This record gives sequence, C-alpha cells and structure tokens, in this order.
Amino acid sequence: MNIIELKNITKKYSIGKITVLALENINLTIQQGNFVAIMGHSGSGKSTLLNILGLLDKPSSGSYLLSGKEVSKLSDDELAFVRNELMGFVFQNFNLLSRISALENVALPNIYATHKTKINPLDLLSKVGLAERTKHKPNELSGGQQQRVAIARSLINNPLIIFADEPTGNLDSKSAQEIISLLQELNNSGITIIMVTHEPDLASVANRTIKLRDGKIISDDRVSSIKCCNEKNGIIKNLEHHSILNYSRIKDYFSQALRSLLSNKTRSILSILGVLVGVTCLIAMLALGKGAQEEVKKSISNLGSNILVVRAGAFQRGGITLGTGTRTRFTLFDVIETKKIPGVTNVVPYLSANSQVLYGNKNWNTRIVGTNVEYQEIKNSFPETGRFFTETETIQRTKVAVIGKTVKDHLFGDKNPIGEFIKIRKIDFQVIGVLPEKGTSGWQNLDDQILIPINTAKYRLMGREYIDYMDVQVEQEHLMELTAGRIKKLITQQHRLPPNKEDEIDIRNMAELQATISSTMKTFSYLLGSIAFVSLLVGGIGIMNIMLVSVTERTREIGLRKAIGANNKDILFQFIIESVTICIVGGIIGILLGVTISFALAKFAGWSTMVSVSSIILAFTFSSLVGFIFGLWPARKASLLNPIEALRYE
Ligand code: ADP
Ligand code: MG
Repeated sequence: MNIIELKNITKKYSIGKITVLALENINLTIQQGNFVAIMGHSGSGKSTLLNILGLLDKPSSGSYLLSGKEVSKLSDDELAFVRNELMGFVFQNFNLLSRISALENVALPNIYATHKTKINPLDLLSKVGLAERTKHKPNELSGGQQQRVAIARSLINNPLIIFADEPTGNLDSKSAQEIISLLQELNNSGITIIMVTHEPDLASVANRTIKLRDGKIISDDRVSSIKCCNEKNGIIKNLEHHSILNYSRIKDYFSQALRSLLSNKTRSILSILGVLVGVTCLIAMLALGKGAQEEVKKSISNLGSNILVVRAGAFQRGGITLGTGTRTRFTLFDVIETKKIPGVTNVVPYLSANSQVLYGNKNWNTRIVGTNVEYQEIKNSFPETGRFFTETETIQRTKVAVIGKTVKDHLFGDKNPIGEFIKIRKIDFQVIGVLPEKGTSGWQNLDDQILIPINTAKYRLMGREYIDYMDVQVEQEHLMELTAGRIKKLITQQHRLPPNKEDEIDIRNMAELQATISSTMKTFSYLLGSIAFVSLLVGGIGIMNIMLVSVTERTREIGLRKAIGANNKDILFQFIIESVTICIVGGIIGILLGVTISFALAKFAGWSTMVSVSSIILAFTFSSLVGFIFGLWPARKASLLNPIEALRYE
C-alpha cells in the first residue's frame, strides 16, 4: 500500500522580497517497504522534501497523506506524536546529545513515547555493532560509530519509515559502506527507507531513485520491486493529542535539568548565587524587621497603656521657674490631686537616683526608684517571687525593696533573695520581691532597678521633697487629650503658675508615641523587605539571562528532541524545571544561610532577630516563583522553535 502520498506539494521560502521556490508541485507516492534514494544537485530541494516527508517542516501548499491520513494540517503536538511513533531520523551530522552516553542517546525517543516498545536499547547497540561502546559519550566515538548510534536511536520505537539526510556525508568510504549496509538490512526487515544522498554508488542499493532539479522531480527510476512489508501494517491508529505527563517524561525533565546544571557548573553556581543572595537577604531582613518590631512592641507595652507622662519643666531641667529665681516642682500632693480627676485610673510618682547597692561582698550600681503600689498595675509588673510593697508600707516609710532581675542576678546569683538585707547608701533594706523580666522601656532597662516606697525614698534615702515626674493612666484612649488639659489646669491652679508658664508643664501622650513608633517600625520592615525583594528580582533577571543563553546554546538539542517526538510542552517543562531547580537550590541554601546569619546577628551582634516560619515559606515560594516566572519566557521561546530551524541552527 501507499505509505506516502504527496499531491502538489510546494515549499516557498521568503527572504525579504525574494521568494525561493524550494519545491514546486511535487507529486509522489511511496509504497511501504521501499528503499528510496533522493538525489540531485546541491540546492535542488532534497533536504526540503525530506524534512516535509519527515514532518519536520510544513509545506506551503499541497496535501500529504501518511498511511491515508492528511498530516500537513496537524498541530505541532500531533506531529511530534507521529514522528515519535512512526518515524526514525538519521542526520548527516548525527545530532547526538553530547552530554549523555551512547546507550542513553539510543533510548532518548522512548522518553516521549506514548506506546512504549519492548525494544532494549542494548540490543539495538549490539545490532549496529557497538555492544562494547554503550557508556561512551558521542565525543568518544568515531564518526561512523556515532552514525550507528543514531541509527540505533531511530529504531527504538520500531518505526515504519526511516528518513536519512546524507547519512554518510561526513563519513569515510568504509564507514559509509557499513552505514549503507545497515540501512539495507533494516529495509530487508520491512522498514521503509527514504535517503538523500549525493553518491550514485550508494544510491544503487535503493530500489527506487528520485532525482530533483530546482525543486522538481526530473526522474523516478524503479530498479526492483519492494521486498517486504512491515508488521506495523501502516495504520496510524490514533492521531489524537498524546502528551500525557508520565513518569519517564518527568524523570527526564529533572535529569536533563540536573545534567545541564552540572555540565555548566560555574554558570549554574553563579546563577544559584544570585537567587541565594536574594533569599538570604529576604530571610535575614525579615528576621531583623520582625525582631526589631517585636522588641519595640515589648518596649512599647512596657510603657503601659494610655499613659500620660507629666513633668514639671522639660526633661532633666527640674521644675518650673517662677520668675524670682524660685522653682516649683511636683509633690505627692499633686499626685493625690491628679488621681481625683475623672477618667484617671492610676497615678504613679517617680523619684530616682543611681546608687551603689551592697549584699555581702557583692556590689552593684543601679537605679533606685521610689514609687507607689500602682506601679505594678500600669507596668503590668507583678513580682514573680515575693511581693510588692503595700500602701501602708509606703506611708510608714518602710525600708523594703523590690528588685529587678538584673540586680538579683548580680547580687544573689541563684540564691533566693527574699528576706535578705541589702545596703543602699548604708541603709539596710529588706528584699521582699523580684520583678518579672521586662527588658527595656524607652531609654530605661526595667530589669536593672530597685523599687522602694516613694516616701522611703523621699525622706530616708534621698532627702527630697519633690518627685521627678508621674505617670498618669487614663481610662480610655480618647480621653487622653481631655485629661491632659485637666491636669494642666489643676497644676496651674495648685502651683499658682502665671498663665505663660503653663507650657512648662510637660505632658507627653505615650499612646501617640506608641502609635508613631509602631507605624515607623512597620515602614522600616517594609523597607527591609523591599530591599530583599529587589535583590531577589535581580537574581531572577540573572536566571532569565542564563536561561536565554542556555536555550540559544541548546537550540540544536531542542530541534533534535522535537524531531524524535518531544512536543512543545516537553521542551517548556524541561527548561522551566531547569530554572526552577536553580531557584529552589538557591532558595534552600539561601534559607539555611539566612537563618544562620539571623542567629549569628542575634548572638554576636546582639541584634534582636526573629525568623518566622512564614518568612521561610514566603522565601521558598517566592524563589520558586522567580524561577518559574523568569524561566517561562526562555522556556516558551525554546518550546516554540520550529524543529527544522532549530536543527539547522549554528
Ligand atoms: P538540497 O538539500 O538539495 O541541497 P535544500 O532543500 O536544502 O537543497 O534547499 C533547496 C532550496 O531552498 C535552496 O535554494 C536553498 O537555498 C533554499 N532554502 C533551503 N532552506 C532555506 C531556508 N530556511 N530559508 C530560505 N531558503 C532556504
Ligand atoms: Mg541538503
């Protein structure tokens, strides 16, 4: 039967304004089992004809029936399927993949096969006389041997037809003879062979010789009749779209990606480095931002909520000048009066001084703070062990102390300090409680202080009548402005301040400050994050660049893969997986490095960092996404290459 039927096949190439008619109205039928030689001068259209027959190229017009089915209108993927299933190709320049062994080259079309044959690539290599060379790479084989590998490859899916374009063109005459005998042998077993050749004596093995000149058939000689027929019976059973993602394809995508990465180590490492730096940056920056945010949050919450800090005169100046050289400062009376203002829940006075503290032979320099019972409420600082001093103890000026964690550690170590006596300015104080660990609040370390009753501080320790400042806690945030005004009014009256001195009552709204700090911190983290984002983007552009180079460099490989049955999706996946692999490797190392750096920053530089699981997930997802997005364009470019143009690419 007719396996091939061409009707009025024409192929035009347009280069600028010139149109080359490479094939003109070719009518040709080829029976199954034929050995056809196509001959003619260079430029006569032999390769063009063979490429159209082999579905590597599409005719400009005309009809092509393959086993009775019209194929010139099939989609790219259907063509790939037919090439894989029914055809084998042997090229003048062999077109073996240089990175893989002879055996793997032979098995290559299997990857893309929908119906796998049981043919063992090893058997095929022995059949072409290369049983001893299975592990050799193409560059470790002679030209003749490479061509035999290529023939073995063309047989792996048990083809109906083998197309050979000057298969002996690059070989010496002895190797050429061997190749021709091989083809003849295959023909004897029933495979249709269509071969382009220049050499009349090689063409003599064919039973039919077609001569071309200027794109037209000028002669068609049948020497002998067809010998045999093929068991495949020439039926193209099913030309439906067959690109099932099976295991062998996926495995191949990964192994190809890995191979390609390994074969260009420097390049791979550099592009991995780009992503790695980005991801490391991302993790470290997020950890820093988060750490700083947490730190500030804690510090802010240590200030207490809805607090007005009320001072007489600006900070550290102490008092409001009254003109005649006298100053007025706040007293406990102000505290009591302020407490009476509606909406005020707690008022806490502070009177502090630095002092040396002794316990046994240990001493420690710390801040002694006189305050009242309400301190623990507004700072949410109820003693962990022991207790706070009471109202009565405050009134009675009792010599009791509640100490911070740092003070406890320095004076007592692991010992229980409750009930022990410490000396502050030569006065014995009994330790009655230890404050919970708080860290810093604004500029103060809340763990490095000793709290004593305010009256004790005033009369026994510091001998001062006034207090430094007071914290006023307001019931609700929206009442803070109002309350601040009331406090000002109260103090102005109490101290008989002239109206122009009202401004010297310094009232700070901590809630506002907290809000400002929080939003600043948020901006700060966003800034850090965006720096990391940009560096990851730069890494991604690097990947895209590398992938484009990779596609260009492997254009011929892409052409070959398509010739033996890879469809567009196969090529697309292969390249995307390559770029995603780069990014995932970079991402994983980057995450490890970023986490390490974050911990190192915390440990050695004392910065607070916090690596969150979500930042790791984000970095991983983001880097894989970078690989996908920046790999997509090069991969698409590769997948859309026309097989024959890709194969011709120099
Ligand atoms: P042969 O294989 O017989 O030497 P080809 O089939 O390769 O000849 O080429 C036939 C004609 O088509 C030549 O004139 C050649 O210049 C032209 N041709 C082949 N391929 C292309 C192409 N990709 N673009 C433009 N012209 C082409
Ligand atoms: Mg040619």
